[in-house]
Amino acid sequence: MAVISFKCPNCDGELIFDPSTQKYKCEYCMSLFSQAELEAMKPAAASDKSGTPDQSGGEKKDASGMRDAAGSASDRAGSEAAQEEAVIYTCPSCGAEIITDQTTAATFCYYCHNPVVIGGRLSGELLPNRVIPFEVTRQDAEKKFLDYVSTKRFVPRAFFDKKQIERLSGVYFPYWLYDVELEGRMDGTARNIRVWRTGDVEYTETKHYAIRREGDISLKNLPENALRKANAKLAAGVLPYDFHRMKEFHMGYLSGFLAECRDIRQTEVAAKMQSEMRESAQKLMRDTVTGFNSVTMQRSDFRPKREGWSYVLLPVWTITYRGRNGKVYYYSMNGQNGRVCGELPVDRKKLALTSGLAGLLALMLGLIGGFFI
Ligand SMILES: [Zn+2]
Ligand SMILES: [Zn+2]
Repeated sequence: MAVISFKCPNCDGELIFDPSTQKYKCEYCMSLFSQAELEAMKPAAASDKSGTPDQSGGEKKDASGMRDAAGSASDRAGSEAAQEEAVIYTCPSCGAEIITDQTTAATFCYYCHNPVVIGGRLSGELLPNRVIPFEVTRQDAEKKFLDYVSTKRFVPRAFFDKKQIERLSGVYFPYWLYDVELEGRMDGTARNIRVWRTGDVEYTETKHYAIRREGDISLKNLPENALRKANAKLAAGVLPYDFHRMKEFHMGYLSGFLAECRDIRQTEVAAKMQSEMRESAQKLMRDTVTGFNSVTMQRSDFRPKREGWSYVLLPVWTITYRGRNGKVYYYSMNGQNGRVCGELPVDRKKLALTSGLAGLLALMLGLIGGFFI
């Protein structure tokens, strides 16, 4: 199962995922099929390809030097090391060669323009857990893009001429999602001061408080880029997504779009995401201490009780444009809600709080009384 394309049972045309109906559409006879119907016909689509060699047989090493590069990474899982090499597949529709990048998971045949999904890149441990299907159609994306650039001054005309807009691509990008339930505790002191005057005497009352916060905080869906070549600012800039609308992964969603599979392992991002979550949890708990003139937290300790990771594909409409000075400009749009981002810096901490945070499960407050001095 190297290359998959989904064929219309009525006319044998290619089926692509249609964001406006959330169904599969044949662009030749305009038939629409649901996810269930597509799955029912999947074996037929796969058996079509019985003549296509499987992934290991179908791929050619593109240079002998590549073997050495892959060999040096032999400590990695075998299937992941295999992704290091550029490979050539055969188009199931016209038989032409499809040359892919090392992380391509869905693309178009250069010759017949039919959409193809590289199944082997999305199987085994590289099988995504979930996907957010495109909801913004190409027409909407083009319109939003034009609206966006027309509000910007100093944008070169070439950036939004017709040819450039045709290059707008719908791409599924790979992300890690991290969930954690933290058990935390904080200790500190706080002070309230009140000053009043009676006759000639000024009184100052200082109340000292010992503060303790203890509780479990559950944080969900902190996303992190899982593609080495992705532009880091854009990968963060298209966030947040509504992760409640994630779907079980099916390859059909990729048909008609480009897709990249991950080449960054969970272990490479784990430490960073764990510390971001700890900081977020700490801030959340700290924010529950209110109503004092001054607060000093002395100790805080957060430990993960439960952790969960998933590998997801998220939809992005994107254009890359090389300016005259050689600088590469990026434009991306969240393919779920149409939110636009250029090359804007993103505050990761804020992001974790607004998009990542699902809720405070149980925050038990242990305020240990106030006393006078
Ligand atoms: Zn058809
Ligand atoms: Zn082809």
